[in-house]
Amino acid sequence: MQDWYKVVSLAPGVFAIGEPRYEQQNWSYLICGREQALLFDTGSYFGEMSPVVAGLTDLPLTVMPSHMHYDHLGNVQAFERVVLPDLAILRACAAGDIVTPSDDLFLPQSEGRVPPAFRVAEWLEIGAQIDLGGRRLELLHTPGHSPDSVSLWWAEAGVLFAADYLYHGSLFAQVPGASLSAYLGTARDLEAQLPPRAVIFGAHGDAHSPEAAQPPQLDTAHLAALITCLEDIRATPPDMANGPHERRVSALNTLITGPDALHGFV
Ligand SMILES: [Zn+2]
Repeated sequence: MQDWYKVVSLAPGVFAIGEPRYEQQNWSYLICGREQALLFDTGSYFGEMSPVVAGLTDLPLTVMPSHMHYDHLGNVQAFERVVLPDLAILRACAAGDIVTPSDDLFLPQSEGRVPPAFRVAEWLEIGAQIDLGGRRLELLHTPGHSPDSVSLWWAEAGVLFAADYLYHGSLFAQVPGASLSAYLGTARDLEAQLPPRAVIFGAHGDAHSPEAAQPPQLDTAHLAALITCLEDIRATPPDMANGPHERRVSALNTLITGPDALHGFV
């Protein structure tokens, strides 16, 4: 099963772990410091990522899922130490230290998966600096695609791991919990925080793109393009009588909007 994954080194001790044979082209990220390693997402349920990670680092490992959708929590129970952002919507899924994501957050209907129950070792506050030893990541709340989405900002390198907030292909704002108001608020926050030359890595590639085999990389121009697209939707709201509406964001992505995501936006 190990050939399910494709590992790309982004920097010394920083790896993108892709699933090029999964139609959703997931990418998870392993960031190692001197003392600890952090795995951002455990990928789809098809693979078993823990042996791959064990082959890349022997540092103590912490896993942080970017959000609770089924395609980012694959075999999360296999990992000893899982942390979650301290968000009320996630706390509501906890009984003691065991979290079972609600159907609204996990989306079991999409590919018929069952929400896992897993132990949470720690709840991290939004804004927390995760110190891996000589390498620090800031935990950002980046709702839009889902209310519980978080990103990791590696300031020293100018890299944002944006997970499902921004990636290649179709951005999904037609799924339960997606909100264009939240997408726009997050985009403006990120635009204010990120330096112009920041690099952004997302959690999905575009299977139809010639770049599909590489980690999905974007930049602040794509963030600006998303803001333009969202403002455009607000100015000319789509007619969704015939289903979700798709609008181009940039050469790398589109935005698919469902009626619920427009709530409070137009
Ligand atoms: Zn996803």
